[in-house]
Amino acid sequence: MQVRSYAALDPKSSLVPHMIERRKPGPRDVLIEIEFSGICHSDIHMARNEWGIALFPVVPGHEIVGRVKEVGNQVTKFKVGQRVGVGCMVDSCRTCGSCKEGLEQYCDQGFVGTYGALERDGKTLTYGGYSTHIVTQEDFVLRIPENLDPAAAAPLLCAGITTYSPLRYVGLGKGQKLGVLGLGGLGHMAVKIGASFGAEVTVLSGSLSKQADAKSLGAADFALTSDPASMDKLQNHFDFIIDTVAAKHDINQAFGLLKREGTLIMVGASEKPLDLGVFSLIFRRRKMLGSLIGGIRETQEMLDHCGKHGITSTIEMIAAEKINEAYERMIKGQVKYRFVIDAKTF
Ligand code: NAP
Ligand code: ZN
Ligand code: ZN
Repeated sequence: MQVRSYAALDPKSSLVPHMIERRKPGPRDVLIEIEFSGICHSDIHMARNEWGIALFPVVPGHEIVGRVKEVGNQVTKFKVGQRVGVGCMVDSCRTCGSCKEGLEQYCDQGFVGTYGALERDGKTLTYGGYSTHIVTQEDFVLRIPENLDPAAAAPLLCAGITTYSPLRYVGLGKGQKLGVLGLGGLGHMAVKIGASFGAEVTVLSGSLSKQADAKSLGAADFALTSDPASMDKLQNHFDFIIDTVAAKHDINQAFGLLKREGTLIMVGASEKPLDLGVFSLIFRRRKMLGSLIGGIRETQEMLDHCGKHGITSTIEMIAAEKINEAYERMIKGQVKYRFVIDAKTF
């Protein structure tokens, strides 16, 4: 079936309306009528091919919420009308050690990205959520708690799980101090989720204009990274810092803020290498940890956690024709705190 979408036809052009083909649902497929699609900074990296891995045309969008419109005859987990989501992955090998452990994001053969990638047949291009419908195999579809606002729940599918997963992995909890570096889409979810785990959260931001929001998002404190006095006060302060910055920046400053044996959790994916001064690691036995989204099982756990605690993203809803403008604002760090596209406008 032909559906409407917005696509980057090449890495240099703005996104434009574009028709794409969605497959007829197979026996284990779910056809979803998309209601809302979040804009992740990864969409910008991919649409502009900044990581050098995108296949064009790129129809971005991996924070997808909608309702089930049709199910294949072997689908057991979902019913027509149910509210569901799709995140960053639509398939994986399902047989390697990582897949068997529910860590499909670390699949030995590479997971199939929701967009800009090839299906496991090696031929069919995947298209993401900036469109009216998507067809996804049921094992990669998530249940969205019905008590959550569906538009504000969409960003949980990437920004939510990408911050939830490493914070769970390191065992963040009461009595611990978490710094959140960069207050954008991922950063503001790290604040909300970190606070829900009982940690004392401090926002570490380059934007003074975001100071007023830090407390309402759930942070105990805010510090401006460009202010040397504030940074001095926080030396050796944090158990963990989650770094969500989308571009090249100084990670040595962040290491200095960690306690002995503290961990810098890297989720921001700058296309340029970051400079690491090893002494900031060596002298207090500090650590660095990378983390990629989260597995399907953990994504469902995160959604249920958010349902229970009433956690959603703080969003600005836009029409599809504003996508390119939204990208420019995100690059300037001016989103508060996630753009979500109303799928009726595709
Ligand atoms: P975003 O909403 O644009 O937020 C990024 C924030 O970083 C900005 O709001 C800004 O916060 C800060 N920043 C500081 N200097 C910047 C600069 N030169 N350019 C851009 N931002 C700057 O982005 P996002 O959607 O949260 O994504 C953040 C990064 O994580 C991206 O690189 C994205 O690709 C990556 N990502 C990784 C994973 C993963 O699995 N590891 C998953 C999703 C996304 P302040 O104004 O507070 O300084
Ligand atoms: Zn993302
Ligand atoms: Zn695998």
